[in-house]
Amino acid sequence: PEVSVPSILAGSARRYGDRPAFVHEGEQLSFRELGQAAAAFANGLLADGLSPGDPVGLRMPNCLAYPVAYYGTLLAGGTFVPVSPLLPEPAARAQLADAGAVRTITAADVPALSAGQRETPPEIDVDIHQHLAHLAYTGGTTGVSKGVELTHRNVVVNCLQYACWGTGSVPALDEHGGLVLDQVGSAEEWPTRLGTGIAINLTPWFHAMGTIGGLNVPVLSGTTIVLHSKLDPAAYLADVERLRVTSMGGAPALFAALLACPDIRTRDLGSVRSISSGAAPMPLEMINQLGRLLPGAPILEGYGLTEVTMGATSTPSHRSGRHKAGAVGRPVFDTEVRLASLDGDDTEVPPGERGEVCVRGPQVMRGYHNRPEATAEVLRDGWLHTGDIGVLDADGYLSIVDRKKDMLLYKGYNVYPRELEELLIALPEVAAAAVVGRPDPAVGELPVAFVVPAGASVSDTAVLDAVNAQVPGYKRVRELRFVPELPVSAAGKILKRALREQLT
Ligand code: ATP
Repeated sequence: PEVSVPSILAGSARRYGDRPAFVHEGEQLSFRELGQAAAAFANGLLADGLSPGDPVGLRMPNCLAYPVAYYGTLLAGGTFVPVSPLLPEPAARAQLADAGAVRTITAADVPALSAGQRETPPEIDVDIHQHLAHLAYTGGTTGVSKGVELTHRNVVVNCLQYACWGTGSVPALDEHGGLVLDQVGSAEEWPTRLGTGIAINLTPWFHAMGTIGGLNVPVLSGTTIVLHSKLDPAAYLADVERLRVTSMGGAPALFAALLACPDIRTRDLGSVRSISSGAAPMPLEMINQLGRLLPGAPILEGYGLTEVTMGATSTPSHRSGRHKAGAVGRPVFDTEVRLASLDGDDTEVPPGERGEVCVRGPQVMRGYHNRPEATAEVLRDGWLHTGDIGVLDADGYLSIVDRKKDMLLYKGYNVYPRELEELLIALPEVAAAAVVGRPDPAVGELPVAFVVPAGASVSDTAVLDAVNAQVPGYKRVRELRFVPELPVSAAGKILKRALREQLT
């Protein structure tokens, strides 16, 4: 589709007009109002001297001002540079400087920039293949955050790839950017029809999963977003019941918190038709628990990284494909996934064998910002080398085994921490667990488990024995440390870097 990202909003403002686009703490914003507010904001930015192509930092938590500033920046021809409001000041400043941001917008700036401005969008020409829509920074889970250059086409395509998951067909946009689905699949293919869904969102919009899955995809499909900006499981579940929410999405950390809240058993959650999870592995135990509590809502696990805008794979819907527990689905349309040998020679490994996940598709980034060497390292012959280890089955379903950087080597054997974590989490004594390696001069690395116990009187030797009885000797967990909680990034990923630091 030859449309820019703000066309998504323009299309929905025309199609869904007065339908609420956002509901937040008793306030509402309709699709039409959002379109007008974004236009006024864009005109304000231009009046204030923004030139097309200028990077603009957005540093605010999820709130109603966010989509106004986001779409407004893009309408003005600016490039969106999301900055986590949780990032300490020096790190935020370094990121904005790296991006070359000409200004940074906070929630407080939005009304003043929009005041008195025309509510018709400015006419700015955007080359969707060249013009950067997003300059988004990777989560920094494994090292330094890198700026990822994403064009308008990258972003629009990835939104379409997820907005039409499971229909088995290629979606279309009308000339205004409105999603057209009548010509693809049938209405029954959709868990919720266009312009009728109600999604509840807590995923930060400064992260890929939030910007695409939690913001643009719902806007594109005319879905109302019930916005929560703080994790309050009881309030979240109350809103799901009260507002008849049809879809929930987030990282596994969100679902862990919901499952730990007793209200999940008493609230009527029957309106929920799908649960989307991504950003980190969802433990099998969690899939089973959610399946028991919300039998009408299939779990859609997607896999991706900032470098592919948001995602590369997704579980097909329960009508047009099978959900395989533990797998992150199949490549979304126009996307290829292949596994490259872990020996470093890039040969393709056959189904059933482990290899580095490589992705090719129109959502793959142009490159890292100002880092040609880092770009050349991961983008080779049109394939993005993700640094994740996966397995493809005979049906083309991908499972993520672990990250290459998290894999341990014990006397030359590969030990995958995620396998040990799955065994730990399956124990009733364990609420959460993460395994990292402690360097050992004699053997390489030794697996050490950080465990959040599920009760006060859990014995470490009982937990160790239960896990180690299930694995061969070289995979045995050598040490167990009880901790009150695990360090988690803003995007919901366990920060193994921080755990490794505790070992040195
Ligand atoms: P950095 O690259 O700076 O270390 P990061 O990895 O957190 O940061 P993101 O782009 O936010 O950067 O995260 C992408 C990573 O998240 C993937 O490479 C993968 O390891 C993990 N991931 C995403 N979805 C899933 C999933 N469904 N299952 C398992 N892992 C996932």
